[in-house]
Amino acid sequence: MSIQLQILLFAFAIGLAMGSFGNVLIYRLPLGKSIVFPGSRCPACGTAIRWYDNVPVLSYLILRGRCRSCGEPISWRYPGVEALTGLLFAGVVYRYGIGPMTVPLLLFAWALVVITFIDLDHRIIPDVISLPGTVVGLAVSFLPGMPRPMDAFIGSVVGAGFLFFVLYAYEKIMGDEGMGMGDVKLMAMIGAFLGWQALPVTVLISSLTGSLTGVGFAVAKGEPVRKFPVPFGPFLAFGAVIHMFFGVEILLWYLGKLS
Ligand SMILES: [Zn+2]
Repeated sequence: MSIQLQILLFAFAIGLAMGSFGNVLIYRLPLGKSIVFPGSRCPACGTAIRWYDNVPVLSYLILRGRCRSCGEPISWRYPGVEALTGLLFAGVVYRYGIGPMTVPLLLFAWALVVITFIDLDHRIIPDVISLPGTVVGLAVSFLPGMPRPMDAFIGSVVGAGFLFFVLYAYEKIMGDEGMGMGDVKLMAMIGAFLGWQALPVTVLISSLTGSLTGVGFAVAKGEPVRKFPVPFGPFLAFGAVIHMFFGVEILLWYLGKLS
């Protein structure tokens, strides 16, 4: 096996494990529960999950998605979050290689996954992730391979400022809130990690996918479109991920269109 493939597989495995920890955070953070104690339990019967039944993705497949004790189905989202984090980690290493920026970018991708699923479940984006995340993003901008410190700072302030303005305008015009301050703080974190250069692609992709999904949901449910039925955080996260992987290509394509 080539050394490059081994490194990618290693990144994938680390991602699976971090995804597993992410599942714990997604479940416990919004409930205000301790994230280290006690160990994982079956939500249905409360039986403590043994370490060998807690291996990311594999245990789910071996147990065929059911608790070993009570046989109740376990949500596919647990292995889903693990696999998604694994793929993102392998993708980041594939795209950016190994360097000083690898760990910060992996942590950023991991935070986006956790935020996405907490927002889907509870329609909140915990400050306890986005605020320290912003500080870490600004701090790691001094590392080679990351956006320069000034770009990160501008990205953070302009990103959050822009979203705050949209939020304000949306409320004034529609008399309804589409986004929340959680989204504004998430945008500060995204801008800090990716720099202001990431804002156009992130905003474009997230508003396109978000509004299409929102309208789709509203039409399907027969509800008025103006009451935004889906949280916006996951779309911001999606836009940021698209920029991480394809931002340069999208920009080149766009500039090519202009010339
Ligand atoms: Zn059980």
